[in-house]
Amino acid sequence: MTHDGEGVGRVDGYTLFVPGALPGERISARVTKQKKQYGYAELDELLTASPDRLNPPCDIYEECGGCQLQHFDYEAQLTWKRQHVIDNLTRIGKLTVAGDGEDGGIVVHPTIGMENPWRYRNKAAVPIGTASASGELVGGFYERGTHRIIDMDDCLIQHDRNDEALRVVKRIARYLRVKPYDETTGEGVLRHVMVRTGFVTGEIMVVLVTNGQRLPRQPEWIESLRAELPGLKSIVQNVNERNTNVIFGDETRTLWGSDVIYDELDGIRFAISARSFYQVNPSQTIALYGKAVEYAALTGNENVIDAYCGIGTISLFLARKAGHVYGVEIVPEAIEDAKRNAALNGVENATFEAGPAEVVIPRWRKEGATADVIVVDPPRKGCDSALLETILKMQPERVVYVSCNPSTLARDLRVLEDGGYRTVEVTPVDMFPWTSHVEAVVSIHRINK
Ligand code: SAH
Repeated sequence: MTHDGEGVGRVDGYTLFVPGALPGERISARVTKQKKQYGYAELDELLTASPDRLNPPCDIYEECGGCQLQHFDYEAQLTWKRQHVIDNLTRIGKLTVAGDGEDGGIVVHPTIGMENPWRYRNKAAVPIGTASASGELVGGFYERGTHRIIDMDDCLIQHDRNDEALRVVKRIARYLRVKPYDETTGEGVLRHVMVRTGFVTGEIMVVLVTNGQRLPRQPEWIESLRAELPGLKSIVQNVNERNTNVIFGDETRTLWGSDVIYDELDGIRFAISARSFYQVNPSQTIALYGKAVEYAALTGNENVIDAYCGIGTISLFLARKAGHVYGVEIVPEAIEDAKRNAALNGVENATFEAGPAEVVIPRWRKEGATADVIVVDPPRKGCDSALLETILKMQPERVVYVSCNPSTLARDLRVLEDGGYRTVEVTPVDMFPWTSHVEAVVSIHRINK
């Protein structure tokens, strides 16, 4: 399978990508696109089905692009995700993994999975549009390969409260005759709806993304949402007037209630605002951060840098065991949340600064800062090379790398290896069951003393 879960097969040495086909299967497929080196095909018939093949429980799995692996046994997914990490480490990172027959390679542990891998998401964001047949307002997902919006009322990986909140928002929008946004004409009002729910607290935030400053019939919106959503704590409007696929615009304002909702992870309380990053799978987040803290191996005196810290989640987990934690993050609102979160939990040994990690940390170094441990948790594109250079200059004893993209992880590990560090251990953590996303935590030690 490819990194996004498509099957890869061969006919007389020619490579075909076939969505929905599993490793070990023999299939008959119809070729849809042919290039010199490879082509694409549609699965026609299963000649020999994989023992790991499942009947996808979701009714709209075939049309929706959200999940890619619902036809694949959960345990097999966990095994595949681990192997996917290994493949990237060896092919892109040119690293040696233990069990390859060579001594002293990197230990890649089994993927930490979920006991019940459903209804795990705390955040949902759906595009709003008009159904071409009925003319009715719909909200759900883009049909695979198109921009046609298919209505969705029940998503099996979402928390029930999110599904319910989306249904309520759509009902109100229809009743109030709000015009859905039309991306071809640029007309209409409601573009996207995002809802976030605190798993522990039950608090709900609804974000309405509008084309234009005005939300027509705002008082009725507020009244109806409050009446129908018991856990509602915050209604936020975001304005996006650009003709783009990007969900959010630059302007965010609270229409009713609090600017944030609260949630808790392992006894630590977090304030989360509309535009801040917050991990979507809370129970697995605790496992992920637990591994990060374990790999940081703190004794209570260390200076720790948490780069790409978001709202300070990993920072506060680390602060319980560190001398001092310095968090850096590019979104200013997230840093405001991080400071608030430190205060909220009575944490005095964590400080935060807004800015690009690759600019702020080199400056800290110039000002004389040192670090015993540096934790990085970058977005999909990985660490900026200027940051990696600075890490090599600062010479922390340990680096902990939390990654949502094995290929950029492998690329960055190669840079650290060449600079005198050794990758010791990797634990993949399944943050996104039934999707092809792979998350991993890595323990890296300095070897040039
Ligand atoms: N560690 C946090 C956030 C991880 S997501 C958590 O687990 O919740 C990655 C974060 O990196 C996002 O919050 C994003 O806004 C931030 N980011 C992206 N580019 C950045 C950069 N160049 N410098 C610092 N932070 C950045």
